Amino acid sequence: MSHHKALRLYNTLTRQKEDFTPIDPARVRLYVCGPTVYDLAHIGNARPIIVFDVLNRLLRHLYGDDKVVYVRNITDVDDKINARAAERGVSIRELTEETATIFHKDVAALGCAPPDFEPRATDHIAEMIEIIKRLIVAGNAYEADGHVLFSVPSMPDYGRLSRRPLDEMLAGARVDVASYKRDDMDFVLWKPSKDSEPGWDSPWGRGRPGWHIECSAMSWKHLGETFDIHGGGIDLVFPHHENEIAQSRCAFGHSIMASVWMHNGFLQVEGEKMSKSLGNFITIRDALADWPGEVIRFNMLKTHYRQPIDWTVASLRESKKELDRMYPVAKQFAASSAMIPPDFMAALCDDLNMPEAITALRRLYAEANDGVALAGARLASCGQMLGLFGKSMPEWIGWRPASAAIDELYVQRLVNARIQARKAKNFAESDRIRDELTGLGIQLKDGKDANGELITQWEVKL
Ligand code: AMP
Ligand code: ZN
Repeated sequence: MSHHKALRLYNTLTRQKEDFTPIDPARVRLYVCGPTVYDLAHIGNARPIIVFDVLNRLLRHLYGDDKVVYVRNITDVDDKINARAAERGVSIRELTEETATIFHKDVAALGCAPPDFEPRATDHIAEMIEIIKRLIVAGNAYEADGHVLFSVPSMPDYGRLSRRPLDEMLAGARVDVASYKRDDMDFVLWKPSKDSEPGWDSPWGRGRPGWHIECSAMSWKHLGETFDIHGGGIDLVFPHHENEIAQSRCAFGHSIMASVWMHNGFLQVEGEKMSKSLGNFITIRDALADWPGEVIRFNMLKTHYRQPIDWTVASLRESKKELDRMYPVAKQFAASSAMIPPDFMAALCDDLNMPEAITALRRLYAEANDGVALAGARLASCGQMLGLFGKSMPEWIGWRPASAAIDELYVQRLVNARIQARKAKNFAESDRIRDELTGLGIQLKDGKDANGELITQWEVKL
């Protein structure tokens, strides 16, 4: 297809935009680091899922739906998982199953297609052990005190991805000093487990993997020794991706692990990264109670994926208004990938330039309103490419925040209580209840039914 040469992607490895050339165009391979499933994901975690969902759609458009393999893992063994499972008195499998199920529902509501493979770390322990064995044989890893460590000085060009000065990496590594390390920068591939901790038998005793080795094993199993694109949030560049590269390159003997390394910027709240540890997070679950999934998605896509996003209610409100305007126009037409205009495609192919793609979307909307031929069908088609306009018109209009559904019960109780107060001629109380309802934005209409009984109808004034 003629589109192939058009795709350009920013590669963290080279710090520049490059023409994308798949190793095998009949099997374009994408790996994205998935969630550690110990708790509900927040909307910062949703950013890489949404960004790489758009990339996945674009690759399928360019190379063919059956020519792309998208792998996104689930990290289901980790010290945070162990701690949370112990706290709740459940097995790590129970905890991670429950959390993964919620994660799937959450990201589906954000319009993200599932990956082709979603490997779990605990199903790939054998592959991890195999890689570690190879690293020991090659002289890139050593056993010490029940641990196996990667020897950073054994790899001359360690640090190529993050380009961190050595002293900075060392300062980071010193947080995790241990007497058994030959070098402060060496990192854990395998560590021993206490009887109370989850563990697997290995040549180095019963233990569990370090985090980085998980992704080297899962990408190897499902995509091979080298592949095309590896993605994740910008915080994963160091040490996670740097260490994945060290493991995979040294174990398999290639000059690359993945050709292109892509990283999304942070979703921020008042200038700070949204994170569990800062406590400034909103779970996807809570966000979906207040906003339709497509509004969250659209709001996320308005910012270029490498830029930080400041998450505000004002911008969400604006995004909802914009989709409310476009929906009835877009829904009059069938979407078709053949109807996507060149300028929209050029924007996406320029390192997923979403702000420009959305400018094209807005122009199509304006043209459709002006009756320009094909503009409406193009709007519907571009929207579909971005995972928008997926609901029917009644579904879109009928959406209500979850808080409204909960209020309904509460409102009905207040309305009933007010009728009782009026019957008892307790007008002070009935007026008090009316004021409370007015405060909630509820309008009352009093009347009588066929039998002369007092009835009250109510509605929400929007
Ligand atoms: P974690 O569960 O912290 O390993 O994060 C899972 C994924 O979400 C990784 O790709 C992170 O880089 C990404 N991520 C975490 N917090 C944010 C944030 N505030 N903004 C954007 N991406 C994030
Ligand atoms: Zn990873």
